[in-house]
Amino acid sequence: MNSLYREEIIKLLLLLSLGYLVGSQLDNVWIGLVMALVFYVGMMLRNYRRFNTWLNGGGLAKKPLVNNFWSTIIDQIQRLVNQLRSEQQLLLDDVEYFKESFQALDDGVVIVDDRGRIDWCNKAALRLLGIDLDSDKGQLMANLVRAPEFIHYLEARDYQQALAIASPRSASLHLEIQATLFRQNYTLLFVRNISEVYSLEKMRQDFIANVSHELRTPLTVITGYLETLQDNVDDLPGVWTRAIEQMLSQSHRMDTMVEDLIWLSRLESVPTSESQTVAVAIENLLAGIVSEANVPFSDKSIVLEIRNETFEQHAQLHWPLQLQGNHEELRSAFSNLVQNAIKYTPETGVITVSCWCDRDSLKIEVEDDGEGIDAVHIPRLTERFYRVDSSRTSATGGTGLGLAIVKHVLARHDASLSISSEPGVGSRFTCTFPLQRLVLKS
Ligand code: ADP
Repeated sequence: MNSLYREEIIKLLLLLSLGYLVGSQLDNVWIGLVMALVFYVGMMLRNYRRFNTWLNGGGLAKKPLVNNFWSTIIDQIQRLVNQLRSEQQLLLDDVEYFKESFQALDDGVVIVDDRGRIDWCNKAALRLLGIDLDSDKGQLMANLVRAPEFIHYLEARDYQQALAIASPRSASLHLEIQATLFRQNYTLLFVRNISEVYSLEKMRQDFIANVSHELRTPLTVITGYLETLQDNVDDLPGVWTRAIEQMLSQSHRMDTMVEDLIWLSRLESVPTSESQTVAVAIENLLAGIVSEANVPFSDKSIVLEIRNETFEQHAQLHWPLQLQGNHEELRSAFSNLVQNAIKYTPETGVITVSCWCDRDSLKIEVEDDGEGIDAVHIPRLTERFYRVDSSRTSATGGTGLGLAIVKHVLARHDASLSISSEPGVGSRFTCTFPLQRLVLKS
């Protein structure tokens, strides 16, 4: 480029020299110099006009007839344009490639923009959600998939977990939707058909519910006979005393297990929306559980601690505290935690049931100073039939279902369970409910 400038300056100097010579002939060098300058500027303007016309055409037209200076600039621009065009083509190829691969997917893909409108979707989205790109582009996603839990999922923008819903196309089509945020506020929805997994899960649930119900009657008969035998144990040979005692204890345990299984099946099969929700008076509920638990285990002390001062910071809360939820379910969850604390705490143990709130949640905690649990077991404690030590569980008459029930109940109340424990020191089971679940003053 420097040589270009040099060439242009030499050209200008030559033109000025010529103007000077012509001016000297006319006895006025200034006239000659001005004429030379006007000529130079005129040529520059003409070249600039041609260059500008070419540029406005996007640099696609034939190269205009201009001098070397403009021609070099045009060449450089042309090189840049070509480079950009091939990069753009590569990008377009990439976009096409991804679109084609998304189209080929059996899973639905929907892109929702920052205002919740459909930006793009693949063909599977039509089959799974009934969304057609041609007719639905720009439509509000919440208008096409109206399931309240889906709308809540989209709005809450907490996409750590996938969401399972029935398809708006057919109630027998079950979908799992996993959303991911990308760019700034765009949402990518992956929609998977889980109807098969769903029906297998349903079969499993039905099977457990049916077996549990079927076992109820024979168990009642067996327990009844065993109780009669125990009442008349004096008429039997001495060897039967211990055998009947053990059979009776195991049949009671099986009874509890069947009841727990039936209760778990109910929790799994009745959708949260159909569960009867009332304003549950927390303090009364906890006080009832604690006083019932205190009677047969009077040598262990169970203390209820409601930390009122933490609630006073939330002036809008209804008093006494009320939690929106299913009374029976909540009762079973807290009662299971208290019963566990009693089961796994020695005779002199102290169990504390506390209730308080922090900035955005209500906490209900059951703490004991019992035998505690080794850290390796904690992540698996809420699995059905998971036992830390099966001999310990048999001795306490445990079924291995209590914490699974607690977990299910809490999930149905938008709450979570956290467990901390130390062997030999004690355990702490904390239920965290969102504050929005509490009833506000009217
Ligand atoms: P179970 O009917 O056997 O008590 P759960 O599901 O209620 O079944 O509890 C699972 C396991 O967790 C129990 O077998 C027990 O080993 C352990 N566990 C539960 N609560 C406590 C506790 N408070 N202290 C010590 N261990 C506990």
